[in-house]
Amino acid sequence: MPHIHPKTTPIYQTSVFAFDDLNALEQYFEQPGQSYMYTRYGNPNTDELAQEVNKLEKGAGAVVTSSGMSAILAAVLAVCKAGDHVLCAEEIYGGSSSLLSQEMTRIGVDVTFVPTADTYTLGSYVRPNTRLLLAETVSNPLLQVLDVARLAQETKRQGIKLVIDNTFATPVLTRPLELGADTVIHSVTKYLSGHSDVTAGVVVCKEQEDLQRVQRVMMVYGLNLSPFEGWLAARGLKTLRLRMRQHCSNALEIAEYLERHPKVEKVWYPGLEEHPQHELAKRQGQGMFGGMLSFRIKDETEAVNRFMQALPSIPFAPSLAGVNTSVSYPLGTSHRALSTEQQEKMGITVGVIRFSVGIEEPEELIAELETALAAV
Ligand SMILES: *Cc1c(COP(=O)(O)O)cnc(C)c1O
Repeated sequence: MPHIHPKTTPIYQTSVFAFDDLNALEQYFEQPGQSYMYTRYGNPNTDELAQEVNKLEKGAGAVVTSSGMSAILAAVLAVCKAGDHVLCAEEIYGGSSSLLSQEMTRIGVDVTFVPTADTYTLGSYVRPNTRLLLAETVSNPLLQVLDVARLAQETKRQGIKLVIDNTFATPVLTRPLELGADTVIHSVTKYLSGHSDVTAGVVVCKEQEDLQRVQRVMMVYGLNLSPFEGWLAARGLKTLRLRMRQHCSNALEIAEYLERHPKVEKVWYPGLEEHPQHELAKRQGQGMFGGMLSFRIKDETEAVNRFMQALPSIPFAPSLAGVNTSVSYPLGTSHRALSTEQQEKMGITVGVIRFSVGIEEPEELIAELETALAAV
């Protein structure tokens, strides 16, 4: 066989690795990270992805998982056992909320949701058996920005771990571990892979001890990612910084356009000066504000339908963070399960539309919005 020296990591599409002899087997156990045995325990493609995300988040190490959901599951199971209690920010991804309130409770892990107003004063929520708090850097769909450093001070004071879902901000904007968080999770499905073609997750830890627990949970629960998905995500990740710059500058331009439009009643985007956490967002996001925004047109289903139908090349797709722009509808998707009262309290009404701004030319996007808003 000729000497092969590929520039990029090939896809190691194999479930198992062979050993030369018993010495090689011993070496596998004695020198972790030097060779591979079984893809569920580790594979060069998923390891590459883990190392690259870890570099960006500046952690002690990272573990790649099959989805964002399994990343959250691994982060929770790494520190919680039956009889423990967790706290969760009230404004959280619907899947995270279901995982904690409907599944973890079945195996004896109790959960309390903390109202947004009490985020930084946890005293009355923490119990002797409370292990962690789960919160998001930027919330969906109303783009509330969390002061990670302030919250980390509070969780330290209370003696609990802080787990941050950094999916919306990405490490290009915010690195929660540097701000005092203990664990960061991502739905790699979103910005980190970036092309709407992979489902994957990652857990990044600050402490070696937590990392080993997450690693163990990933292996024994079988939450591993496949080599091909790992390869795709690692490939997407290479352009994260470039993509984020374009996502952010496009989103700011669109937010400013929408804010001026007579048919738009309200715009939620941290880059706008009237956003309640604008200054915090600027500081915590290196002057960038992310690629997600929401806005409200007339609170009528027909108006929303006309708007969506008049967007010829922007699909209505209930996910986010791909290179192509998409719209989503919180009331009918992510926030469907909430009561009408809860929806109204949050401000998620019939006319609220969420935009995941892609990396197209901003003029094209604005032209399309102009047509769609004219149809409302
Ligand atoms: C999508 C998403 C998740 C879940 O990730 P999957 O990859 O779909 O499992 C978790 N948190 C946030 C903020 C998300 O947007």
